[in-house]
Amino acid sequence: MKLLENLIKQKGKVINEKILKVDSFLNHQIDPLLMYEIGGEFFNYFKNQSITKVLTIEASGIACALMTAFHFKVPLIFAKKQKPSTLIDSIYKRNVFSFTKNKEYEICISKEFISKGDRILIIDDFLANGNALNALNEIIIEAESINCGAGIVIEKSFQNGRSNIKNCNFDIYSLATIRSLKNNIVSFQ
Ligand code: 5GP
Repeated sequence: MKLLENLIKQKGKVINEKILKVDSFLNHQIDPLLMYEIGGEFFNYFKNQSITKVLTIEASGIACALMTAFHFKVPLIFAKKQKPSTLIDSIYKRNVFSFTKNKEYEICISKEFISKGDRILIIDDFLANGNALNALNEIIIEAESINCGAGIVIEKSFQNGRSNIKNCNFDIYSLATIRSLKNNIVSFQ
């Protein structure tokens, strides 16, 4: 997606050889028109999949996932990183290792919101090592719902997230793929 690549070039900050900061339009301050365009791109790509739910992880996946759900006119579910006291129903849960925070955290989703036969599209802001995507895919399998694909805003292909996904019988579609962050330069695939 040219618009996204241009924004990454203009406003992205390379923190180190593995981490890109996109706080001015995606991860802290959010550009709503860009989110709308991103949602439209994912809709066009996955529109024949009869999606019934969009799924992401809080917090940074929510904006782009919500705009995708808006285009599909289906609900968005986001996995919570801490189980709130109000979540008293049975839950699906998984541990996810975050390499940006260098720690493991637990995600949980109420069983009320994902049911057998649901056709789910996962949306996330980044694909790095694939831990977040793996955890969401495992929950979809446990819920006996169908993983219809994953839409990723920025994939860092040098981290091999794509090949780390277990039971990856679904399509992964990325809007911008970065092959290197070396020498402070963002190089696209
Ligand atoms: P993975 O689970 O694929 O290793 O990492 C994906 C998650 O880590 C994303 O949901 C995203 O929040 C975070 N992440 C991974 N790489 C980056 C990065 O380069 N920059 C930022 N801002 N977040 C990242």
